[in-house]
Amino acid sequence: MGSRVAVIGAGPSGLAQLHAFEEARKKGAEVPEVVCFEKQSDWGGLWNYSWRTGLDEFGEPAHGSMYRFLWSNGPKECLEFADYTFEEHFGKPIPSFPPREVLADYILGRAKKNDVRRFIQFATAVRWVSYDESTEKFTVTVEDLAAGETRREVFDYVIVATGHFSVPNVPHYEGFETFPGRVLHSHDFRDAREFAGQDVLVMGSSYSAEDLALQSKKYGAKSVTITYRTAPMGFTWPEGIDEVPQLVKLDGEVAHFKDGTSRRVDAIVLCTGYKHHFPFLADELRLRTKNVLYPANLYKGVFWLDNPKLMYLGMQDQFYTMTLFDAEAWYARDYVLGRVSLPSRQEMAADIDKWVQRESTLSADAEMIDFQADHVAELLADVDYPKFDLDLTRKLFRDWEHDKQESIIGYRDRGFRSPCTGTEAPVHHTPWWEAMDDSLETYLNGPKEG
Ligand code: FAD
Ligand code: NAP
Ligand code: MG
Repeated sequence: MGSRVAVIGAGPSGLAQLHAFEEARKKGAEVPEVVCFEKQSDWGGLWNYSWRTGLDEFGEPAHGSMYRFLWSNGPKECLEFADYTFEEHFGKPIPSFPPREVLADYILGRAKKNDVRRFIQFATAVRWVSYDESTEKFTVTVEDLAAGETRREVFDYVIVATGHFSVPNVPHYEGFETFPGRVLHSHDFRDAREFAGQDVLVMGSSYSAEDLALQSKKYGAKSVTITYRTAPMGFTWPEGIDEVPQLVKLDGEVAHFKDGTSRRVDAIVLCTGYKHHFPFLADELRLRTKNVLYPANLYKGVFWLDNPKLMYLGMQDQFYTMTLFDAEAWYARDYVLGRVSLPSRQEMAADIDKWVQRESTLSADAEMIDFQADHVAELLADVDYPKFDLDLTRKLFRDWEHDKQESIIGYRDRGFRSPCTGTEAPVHHTPWWEAMDDSLETYLNGPKEG
């Protein structure tokens, strides 16, 4: 029997993997059998928006963490597929910060073009993966969720693409149990209008805290207080949003902070990040890491050091997203196809150490962006991914950081140059802060008349 590859997850990373194999096959390569297992009933991963929270229709933990009115928080030019540009998909240049539905349409557009859906088994959850040293194969136990039937399949390679922004990290603070309002994690946040007229407390100082604070205010919250643990984000916030030190405790509906101040609040949104969580992987195969740019034990950010036939995609904290996933997917594919070879375990370990060491020296965002760009560049150097201007994306990210400092409600109104086509993006017809309708139709064609 020919070799078999299991891809777990049909989000952007898993789809990049299916696409990479399909590109090789179209160019004449002999490609192994690839089977993708996806626990949801449709593809797109986090971009497959669902109103559900808690458990999904099968009783599985709901994967989705995205919410209504979510727009790209980075320039789309920094995630453009070099082999499927925005202009190719939409037939015209579009602005730089599209809403979720538009980006989802683009991501799925490439997957549809190559018809990779045929490789995916939907509503099929991977329950357990183990490796047998004697047969040198993986056994993958999956459950067909609709039928409630479990079966085992054998694979030569396993590629984990299950994402890591789905299982919430939920701290406890004194008084949560008696707080009269809602306490929720950003994973369960779906519609900012729920908080209209309320005084909202947002906990955290990263992307979720930033965006949910803005969302809540944009859609009518009376006030938003952001409580940080380590350092404030320090943006010039619009009126009605401000940052205060760490929460100490709640006393009824009154929140007390480290600087001795207190405020009454109606609801609490914990933007406290996510856990890398792989309950389906045997101990010796399981990645354990915080949300960092270079998780230890992954050579090139992809190959499990102790057994490189196990690969992980997209496990990094993400400035780069689709571009990083493509670079990793191409590399993983070429390893499976025997086009690239890996050095000795010792050399791989030393290489990982070098990156992990370097990450420990980074402080400014610009340094982190360069670090991740270097990682992407190193992967791309060895594979046949189409050429694009990666150095331009470094600059775009720096400009983006600058724009955010200048105006946290205005940065999404800027336009950037495509590293793939060279086209300058048009400015969007409506400033983001005033754009309440995030539909694809309105985004592409302008506000409806009347
Ligand atoms: P995911 O998108 O999480 O997909 C993983 C897939 O694996 C899911 O479909 C899931 O159902 C499946 N799966 C999980 N466990 C199993 C199992 N046991 N068996 C079978 N299938 C399984 N990125 C951007 O570029 N721009 C943005 O604006 C942006 N906004 C974001 C907003 C939020 C709120 C969050 C949380 C993330 C955002 N991201 C954004 C980053 C996001 O991580 C990536 O865009 C992308 O979705 C990651 O793709 P992935 O395939 O690695 O993971
Ligand atoms: P994150 O970047 O991992 O940040 C986690 C935050 O939680 C940190 O600020 C951390 O504070 C804080 N935290 C953790 N434990 C805490 C505790 N016990 N008490 C107080 N604070 C605590 O996670 P994220 O912000 O959810 O971002 C996840 C991903 O989603 C990112 O890739 C982001 O780009 C994406 N995203 C995109 C959008 C969009 O607009 N498109 C919106 C939201 C999210 P410390 O600094 O103190 O550690
Ligand atoms: Mg960070």
